[in-house]
Amino acid sequence: MENNIFAENLQFYKGVGPSRAEVLSQVGVTNCLDLLHYFPRRYLDHSSVARIVEIASTGETVTVVATVLRAEIVRGRNRPRLEARVRDAWNGHMSIVWFKGLSWIQKAIIPGHQIAFTGEVTRYGNKMTMVHPDFDRLDEGGPQLSTGRIIALYPGGARLQSVGLSSKMFRVIIFQLIKNRGLEFPHILPEWIQSKYQLMDGRVALRAIHFPKSHQELELAKRRLKFEELFFLQMVIRYSRKKRAKLQGIRLANQRTRYEKFIHEVLPFELTQGQKDALQTIEEDMSSGHPMYRMLQGDVGCGKTVVAVAALILAVDNQFQGAFMAPTEVLAEQQYNSLMNYLAPVGISVGLLIGGQTKRTREDILRKISSGTIDIVVGTHALFQKQVTFNQLALAVVDEQHRFGVEQRASLAAKGKNPHMLLMSATPIPRSLSMTMYGDLSMTTIRELPKGRKRIITRLLWETKRSQMEAMVIEQLRQGYQAYIVYPQVEESETSDLKNAESGYKAWKQLCQQYRVGLIHGKMKSSEKEEIMGQFKSKKVQVLIATTVIEVGVDTADATIMVIEHAERFGLSQLHQLRGRVGRGSHQSYCILMADWRQSAESKERLRVIERTTDGFEISEADLKIRGAGDLFGTRQSGLPEFKLASITEDLDIIEYAQQAASELWDKDQDLELPEHQSFRSHFENFVLKRMEGYARTG
Ligand code: ADP
Ligand code: MG
Repeated sequence: MENNIFAENLQFYKGVGPSRAEVLSQVGVTNCLDLLHYFPRRYLDHSSVARIVEIASTGETVTVVATVLRAEIVRGRNRPRLEARVRDAWNGHMSIVWFKGLSWIQKAIIPGHQIAFTGEVTRYGNKMTMVHPDFDRLDEGGPQLSTGRIIALYPGGARLQSVGLSSKMFRVIIFQLIKNRGLEFPHILPEWIQSKYQLMDGRVALRAIHFPKSHQELELAKRRLKFEELFFLQMVIRYSRKKRAKLQGIRLANQRTRYEKFIHEVLPFELTQGQKDALQTIEEDMSSGHPMYRMLQGDVGCGKTVVAVAALILAVDNQFQGAFMAPTEVLAEQQYNSLMNYLAPVGISVGLLIGGQTKRTREDILRKISSGTIDIVVGTHALFQKQVTFNQLALAVVDEQHRFGVEQRASLAAKGKNPHMLLMSATPIPRSLSMTMYGDLSMTTIRELPKGRKRIITRLLWETKRSQMEAMVIEQLRQGYQAYIVYPQVEESETSDLKNAESGYKAWKQLCQQYRVGLIHGKMKSSEKEEIMGQFKSKKVQVLIATTVIEVGVDTADATIMVIEHAERFGLSQLHQLRGRVGRGSHQSYCILMADWRQSAESKERLRVIERTTDGFEISEADLKIRGAGDLFGTRQSGLPEFKLASITEDLDIIEYAQQAASELWDKDQDLELPEHQSFRSHFENFVLKRMEGYARTG
């Protein structure tokens, strides 16, 4: 990288030096570009400063600007604290208290200084107090808070503060950098994209995000920088798709004896059109000569497993092996059993690899996997351990893929030579997001449920209607069906008074003495869970008291009613998944959400969504709106790159523009050879790919 200013090491910058450079690198800031992208956490101006005398309630997070009257370490009977008394311009007084980092904070909180404090207001004794606020010195060398000024405040923290990296210091260092070297910053978006999408110039945006002249300018700067983030992601996705398309994959030949037998003789039903279409696409992928990397999404109960099984049979028909990965042992065992039922009649051998097996069983299976005696292995995380080697892995299926981390999926792929990957998910996501969420995966969606399914009837009942719920459950049992009762926690706990599975178990045993009641939860051994599930499946147990261990995959056609206690405790997508455990046969099924009526309107509205619809897409859209992507997909599991500014729930318009711009650039010049794209190319190759390719490669 020939002398690009963005790559410069920070150590020699004025105001940085080796010890600050070291601390900065711990927060991910190592070069000039990182520093410019170390964005302010918040901004301070006249309008955002609260008057102490007007703060009405505690619990609010506010910023006050006040002068330190005194600051001293207090050693009472409790642990020592630093307590400062401060007064703002409207003659309001407040205490500021710290319990940690006393020595360096005391050096920074000096009587006479004017400081902005941001934090939650509490009462300590009877004094209005802030504990451990963010703070930032404003006078003397720092900016004055005057009309029209907006001051950037940077993410702080003890480590940064301990080497003097206060907000003020960041402002000084970044100001120097922009003032002296700003004209050396390379242009990182092609000129025509900038003008077509009416984006602020990149250099201006970097100045304005740190030193905004107005709120409007700040908004434009943010918009430009969010666009960059999203645009880069789109480009990385396209880039890695193209790279994968060039990889050699396993080309399946057209052997399909057992496959045909399975479809026409073994399966007791005909595939839905959605299943047939999905299968055809998968077949095309697997005979293309390039590795498949496909997401199969579809609502709970739409029959994804059968599709995966058929694809696995195709691999075996062509003398290869397949793997099927499930997120928990209970599920792996259940899938193992259903795969056995499907595959034994066509003469395909299946093995199970999970954590709790004896050493002997385990070694035996490992040997058979590596020799190729086992055609298809079903397993949990145990599948991607080092000791597992395949003879000829052609297809890896990952069920409930959102339960696995990005690296875990990748390490399964590493068990073969570019094997085909089929990821399955029952959390449908709004189309607007699929490109951003699933990166470079190809997508197939099954939209219909098998024929003959009745729509599950869902009712939201308040606690006062408990007896009505019990009557409904007992009526189903009387008709010979089975029930799930789901609780948010396993046992009684001191910190909450939620109903729990263990006491629910006792209560239901009392309630329906002529039926057998079973209990299953995550704290049980997997052999115990397996036994209970077996009893429920074989109808020896009619009522299953459970926690969310039953959330995915459990398949029992005679279960026609599910009660979810404290439904308000669960996410919408989770409720939808849980509810998917009933309505799996042709009988009318019911789901009862028990909730306390003392809830926020928002919380009630969420439950009404579940009551109103069984369409997973609609639910995930609503969930996304109400709770944000992090909750919908879980933070770790989503595999999303971390954006500094952009939000995939709030910046949908920018996502769309960025997607469009990336497509245009791609169509024009995907190898980035045109002269007007050289500056972008250099930035993309030197900075963007390095940071994001890991994300896109493994999806
Ligand atoms: P999911 O997509 O939630 O993983 P499954 O593959 O577990 O769904 O299928 C749900 C149930 O529907 C299973 O009992 C399966 O045997 C049944 N099923 C799958 N496909 C069909 C079909 N085409 N017709 C009828 N039943 C089907
Ligand atoms: Mg499934």
